[in-house]
Amino acid sequence: MKAHDGHYIDGAWRPAAGQDGIDVVNPVDEQVIGRVPAGTAEDVDQAVRAARAALPAWAATPPAERAARLGALRDVLVARKDEIAETVTAELGSPLKFSENVHAAVPIAVAGSYAELAATYAFEEKAGNSTVYLEPVGVVGAITPWNYPLHQIVAKVAPALAAGCTVVLKPAEDTPLVAQLFAEAVHDAGVPAGVFNLVTGLGPVAGQALAEHPGVDLVSFTGSTAVGRQIGRAAGAAVKRVALELGGKSANVILPSADLAKAVNVGVANVMSNSGQTCSAWTRMLVHRDQYEEAVALAATAAAKYGERIGPVVNAKQRARVRSYIEKGVAEGARLVAGGPESPREQGYFVAPTVFADVTPEMTIAQEEIFGPVLSVLRYEDEEDALRIANGTVYGLAGAVWAGDEAEAVAFARRMDTGQVDINGGRFNPLAPFGGYKQSGVGRELGTHGLAEYLQTKSLQF
Ligand code: NAD
Repeated sequence: MKAHDGHYIDGAWRPAAGQDGIDVVNPVDEQVIGRVPAGTAEDVDQAVRAARAALPAWAATPPAERAARLGALRDVLVARKDEIAETVTAELGSPLKFSENVHAAVPIAVAGSYAELAATYAFEEKAGNSTVYLEPVGVVGAITPWNYPLHQIVAKVAPALAAGCTVVLKPAEDTPLVAQLFAEAVHDAGVPAGVFNLVTGLGPVAGQALAEHPGVDLVSFTGSTAVGRQIGRAAGAAVKRVALELGGKSANVILPSADLAKAVNVGVANVMSNSGQTCSAWTRMLVHRDQYEEAVALAATAAAKYGERIGPVVNAKQRARVRSYIEKGVAEGARLVAGGPESPREQGYFVAPTVFADVTPEMTIAQEEIFGPVLSVLRYEDEEDALRIANGTVYGLAGAVWAGDEAEAVAFARRMDTGQVDINGGRFNPLAPFGGYKQSGVGRELGTHGLAEYLQTKSLQF
């Protein structure tokens, strides 16, 4: 795989300040496929200075011209979609079809949506005797995870550029190659120098330096709750804006009137896709006690089918973490009906698609985010019980409700403390606001709500 040995700063690939590098490993065969620089505080400082210097001109660029650059960016991503898919497959390990259909296709759709929004959004509005201008918040520090590596980048960078902000990106250390490809695409799209900058590196070094840099006006972070808390604290102390997309433990609520087989099969597919490394995955399936054993049998059969189809998890640490949760599930008395902690293959960071039955709401595997191909099936007595269980975690990112009647499902969904609910298998919509209630985060991404995160208002009274 092609890797740059510098950082993309102020429109060119610049030599890194330090000598250290990060090896990129293919999780399927554990082979090193590339090496990128481990950025330092000095690299981050250079990048932030470039972003600040570029801010006035980019903020003053007419939205139609910003839209044209985003349209060009989308076109470059389309032209390089096969390379994107191959790169994500190499560094994340996801099957190539999934990389094509999701890891490449979704960011293209999101970049396209912001090209359109930038051209049509009202950056000026009237309120009584005032004119309200929606102005860019300034320099954005974007810190992204590895699970949907290009999507997480585009979900931050595209709205930031549409708003007139400039950006410094610190991507996840496991998946920096697609981030470098993205920087090339931004360059080829004719985005002016300094508007977008990339520094690869370790979270506690480059990430922390970016989050704490006084030249950054907004930190947009996606990743673990532990790091999110730390970033939120630092941003609070500096009185700077922060957007946090954190973990989830979403509920898939199957009401008794639902098509049980469909709800279970789609639910299992949702959890196993991307090897369970999806923050919005429905990792808790809630089934009425009268249908419980039937649902468990269906889920076990469905999970077994994924055995050969899913990729590995991202690295050895993540595999160890997922396995320890599976062992904890067994130790706390849950019934293993598919998969288990043993590795299904000798090489690669694979975890068997795993399903637990007899999971009770207070068990660790029903409360904590596992981030692997592990589903917990819980039993409920009645609708009120289902709602208590669904809302009974610190998280509130996503969820699903299935019922014979759409109105019945909607009525239940409206009582859930969560930011997104799919009704009877409703599809992902890149224009719908994505973000969490409770400890799942602060702020929203995608669509107009995602754009609003990068804008601040200035009111002029007449
Ligand atoms: P992480 O939070 O450590 O990493 C996410 C990003 O933050 C990476 O770019 C990382 O380099 C950076 N980072 C790490 N420490 C930092 C610091 N001190 N200051 C600034 N930036 C820092 O997540 P991880 O270790 O990659 O994954 C751990 C767990 O996080 C997973 O098992 C999963 O539960 C959760 N996770 C959630 C999401 C999500 O989309 N919500 C994504 C990835 C991981």
